[in-house]
Amino acid sequence: MADVIILGAGLTGLSAAYHLDAQGIEYNIFEKSDRAGGLLKSVKESGYIFDHTGHFLHVSDDGFKTFLDQTIGLTSFDIIQRRSAIFSHNVLTEYPFQMNLHGLPTDIIAECIEGFVKRNTRTKNPHTFYDWVLKHFGAGFGKHFFFPYNKKILSYDLKKVHPAWTGRFVPSTSLHNIIEGCFEKKDQVGVGYNSSFYYPKQGGIESIITSITQKISQPIRALHDVCSIDPVARTVHFTNGHQEQYKTLISTLPLNRLLTIIKAPSSATFTNAAGHLLHNSVVNINMGFNVPIPLDKHWIYFPEATYPFYRLGFWHNVSKSLTPLNHTAVYGEFSYLSSRTSADRVKKTVDQAISKTLDFLQLNPQHKTVEKVLHLEHAYVIYDTWREKHLHSLLASLEAFNIHSIGRYGAWKYSSMQEAYQDGKTVAATIKNTLERTTPRAQKGARRGRDSAAIL
Ligand SMILES: Cc1cc2nc3c(=O)[nH]c(=O)nc-3n(C[C@H](O)[C@H](O)[C@H](O)COP(=O)(O)OP(=O)(O)OC[C@H]3O[C@@H](n4cnc5c(N)ncnc54)[C@H](O)[C@@H]3O)c2cc1C
Repeated sequence: MADVIILGAGLTGLSAAYHLDAQGIEYNIFEKSDRAGGLLKSVKESGYIFDHTGHFLHVSDDGFKTFLDQTIGLTSFDIIQRRSAIFSHNVLTEYPFQMNLHGLPTDIIAECIEGFVKRNTRTKNPHTFYDWVLKHFGAGFGKHFFFPYNKKILSYDLKKVHPAWTGRFVPSTSLHNIIEGCFEKKDQVGVGYNSSFYYPKQGGIESIITSITQKISQPIRALHDVCSIDPVARTVHFTNGHQEQYKTLISTLPLNRLLTIIKAPSSATFTNAAGHLLHNSVVNINMGFNVPIPLDKHWIYFPEATYPFYRLGFWHNVSKSLTPLNHTAVYGEFSYLSSRTSADRVKKTVDQAISKTLDFLQLNPQHKTVEKVLHLEHAYVIYDTWREKHLHSLLASLEAFNIHSIGRYGAWKYSSMQEAYQDGKTVAATIKNTLERTTPRAQKGARRGRDSAAIL
């Protein structure tokens, strides 16, 4: 029996494995799918490479940079200055909207400025994203960008969404910035958390997973789908009949799934909580073309309801390695709530999105060489009031069973690849501390002997 079992070999699970290796702690890592990667998988199709929607590495933590260097090598990445835009009122404006009104119709600009000036900054701790926008940006920016765009990306009532997720994801603005941005296009350098990003020179985003997997000591036990966990006997059961004991469990499974498979005295509370955890799903439509697309953007945001997608991205502008020579490729994304949307509705929206993409880019369907539709069942976690009230104690009650539920879906949050790395690193340090406190002195000596061989 290894000290630790890791469930899920996405970036969080792999980072946990890497850091447990560095601490000399034994573990086994199990994955439901046929290979590691989770959301960071790339699909090869007719000479194109499509990631499961745009996945760009935002590197602000030196530790993450070092991790990427040691596992993949920094020379394997291009560092790219973001080129993004917003399409509304038939105009392409620079990102972010709250600093770049240049080019929009005069009445829209006036509404945004007036709303900003009249916004009620005295509202204390707004409880909804809707009110948070009104406080920080005002009614005009809300109406013309924040409300319709975020409604599209979340597929949820913004008056029921808590603003806790906004943090570093929404750049702030000032009257000075707004006015300057009315007269000229403003430089995007340094604006927002994603003003520049790393992207692998070859192989799409999955290439980072391939490299990390080679740097950890244990093989990924693929095709192991966890179906039940007994936290008292500390045993995990898989659908293929395998079972495994553990001292400590790291789970990166979606929390709502984890809660339904834990067979504990408090099972009823867990199952009940699972039903309250809301998330949406995203459809990612990829298309390749044998003609140029005269747009140099990496991605464009679409707040207006006439377009079913909230974003279009351009693979060939991210990396030439993603498309065959002289070909181009586009991805579109739309979200939906699976509990409220029929499969037929999703299919119809895919068809509309394809047709609207071709219209927008003025492309003829004959130039389409490939089409690949990918489904992300868990995409954006909904920060509703239930989550705000109960998530913390829910995760704490799992910790009481020695279960660390981490990662984007394990901790039920809106987070990036950098945070997946950080979560894996933090949990390894926590486990190391706990083992040091609880392991008898004689065993520590034996462990140290083994550790020196295991450290990478
Ligand atoms: C639309 C979208 C766009 C994004 N864009 C970016 C971006 O540009 N930049 C960025 O930094 N981040 C981005 N992210 C976030 C990024 O994808 C995540 O932070 C990161 O991939 C999370 O990794 P994870 O390991 O926590 O979760 P996952 O990747 O979901 O991994 C969990 C693993 O658990 C496995 N698993 C599930 N159930 C079981 C089971 N029963 N038994 C065994 N294994 C199981 C899964 O198969 C999976 O491999 C984006 C996310 C989305 C949804």
